[in-house]
Amino acid sequence: MVNNDSPAILNFVTSLLNFPDTAVIEILHSSDGREITLVVKSTHETLPCRICNKPTHGHGLGRTLRFRHLSLLGKETYIEITPRRGICTDCDDHPTTTERMGWYERSSKMTKPYEQHLLFELVNSTVADVSRKEGTDYHAVEALCDLYEGYMNACKEVFDNKVPVVADRFHVRKLYRKSLVTLRKSELTRLKKQLTTDEYAELKPAIALLKKHKDYFTEEEKSIVEKLFSLSPKLKSAYQFSRELSGIFDSHITPTEAKEKITHWISAVTRSSLKCFNHFIQTLIKYQTQITNYFIHCNNSGFVEGFNNKVKVLKRRCYGLASATRLFQRLIVDTVGVIRFAPGVAAF
Ligand SMILES: [Zn+2]
Repeated sequence: MVNNDSPAILNFVTSLLNFPDTAVIEILHSSDGREITLVVKSTHETLPCRICNKPTHGHGLGRTLRFRHLSLLGKETYIEITPRRGICTDCDDHPTTTERMGWYERSSKMTKPYEQHLLFELVNSTVADVSRKEGTDYHAVEALCDLYEGYMNACKEVFDNKVPVVADRFHVRKLYRKSLVTLRKSELTRLKKQLTTDEYAELKPAIALLKKHKDYFTEEEKSIVEKLFSLSPKLKSAYQFSRELSGIFDSHITPTEAKEKITHWISAVTRSSLKCFNHFIQTLIKYQTQITNYFIHCNNSGFVEGFNNKVKVLKRRCYGLASATRLFQRLIVDTVGVIRFAPGVAAF
């Protein structure tokens, strides 16, 4: 790599790049002359806590992220950033926050402008054509799927071990939350029998909160659920375990570190007297590789699931559709209609 780091050049490239609060600190040029990497940093003075929004104290750096960006002088261009991390001393548990910039999605391998560019290129073209033209590596494509065995095997067959198969984290979450729901129901049935009607009625706000399937509680919510948790220590520890597991999926770690942490989690659950996660643990062990592959790029199929849902709602609203053309017309109107036909009007 050859680098150019004269301040005048860096300032010039920063202004060309034009990303808010971002400065180019190094320009790397690969020796074969095909790639340019712009190493950038954030120019924000403080990093606000993701929970209370107060400034955090420096807590090292996160994993270096690399994004494909629009080509510069016909060369493949990448942007690299090592996000800062901060720790909050105001919140309980001292949560850490990793800085995020507006020009990328954490789950993506491209900057937002590059994503826009690819979408534009896809008009009247196929994914294969675009990936050939843009030189995007096919093997970088990941197969995101749920934990249905047939689907998992189909993916392995098609991608022939060359592409890591990733179990979608939200499908994993659905499974351990299901274990929680089963336990909650059985514990509530037990409490209903033991408590008087009035005593049980007092637990209603706590039950309503648990039904919201939240991973984390605010201070106020904690005090509401505490009452129920004191009556059912089993439920309390199950919720703690579930929160710990969500915490693992929320952290920026490598697949190996994730494997280690998950193994730790499994042994802690097994040591406790909880039985509700037994079935889930079997799945976790069986698909450990696919589940921890999530940590390679932290991708999830949230977009696909959301889109699926939109299509289902649309179908229901129309009471059936007679022609495919109509279906696609409706899809365009419902998904990008506001942007395409009424620019400037806020979507609702
Ligand atoms: Zn805080």
